[in-house]
Amino acid sequence: MRLIFLGPPGAGKGTQAQRLAAERGICQVSTGDILRQAVKAGTAMGQRAKACMDAGQLVPDDVVIGIVRDKLAAPECAKGFILDGFPRTTGQAEALDGILLDFSAPIDRVVAFTVDDEPLVARLCGRRTCPACGAMFHVDFAPPKQDGTCDRCGGALVQRDDDREAVIRDRLAVYARSTRPLLDYYRGKGVLTALSAAAPVDSVYAALKAAVDA
Ligand code: ADP
Ligand code: AMP
Repeated sequence: MRLIFLGPPGAGKGTQAQRLAAERGICQVSTGDILRQAVKAGTAMGQRAKACMDAGQLVPDDVVIGIVRDKLAAPECAKGFILDGFPRTTGQAEALDGILLDFSAPIDRVVAFTVDDEPLVARLCGRRTCPACGAMFHVDFAPPKQDGTCDRCGGALVQRDDDREAVIRDRLAVYARSTRPLLDYYRGKGVLTALSAAAPVDSVYAALKAAVDA
């Protein structure tokens, strides 16, 4: 199964991708996670990406296209993958078409997550993540059992630097300008399914599975 999860920041792409990838034994490819790891490790790519990420702007296409090309060629993606947060521009979508053609591995479905802007701001302001194991929480909607501590591995939870309201508003504007046009791109290819992602996590997950298994 090869899927793309499209949608604004905070729509729940990562939450749902983590769960579906684990259940189906496929690979979650989050360009945001890969870039954050590169920033933390201080690699050349991380240094190039950091300023864009801090400002809520997109990292240059050539950087993220290179990441995805390498990742999709890796053995862990052979059984299938979920692209979470990629593509985000028409240039990235066109490059992905070329990569998948090289691999003879077409996309089965593009799931477009939809949520209004104000709930998105609340979701992002309250997001907490575990840098050790990648688990995701929300201070109100998915709180950890013990404040600030990961239920899964006991690690200390952190708030992402770009999950501050001013940066969140910029990221939503970037989504509207650069990424939303991809809905038409994939609708034109006949692979787009819209998914209302405003409901609680379990209801969204049930609807997601119905959409990808249809
Ligand atoms: P994205 O990957 O699309 O940016 P995330 O999956 O990281 O979004 O979710 C953003 C925040 O919203 C997280 O704190 C997560 O726990 C919370 N969240 C995800 N899905 C839902 C939902 N359906 N209802 C309420 N909160 C949610
Ligand atoms: P995310 O974790 O998906 O919310 O992404 C966090 C940040 O990483 C974004 O605000 C961008 O700066 C950068 N990023 C992630 N994926 C991409 C992409 N496909 N294209 C450009 N920048 C990206």
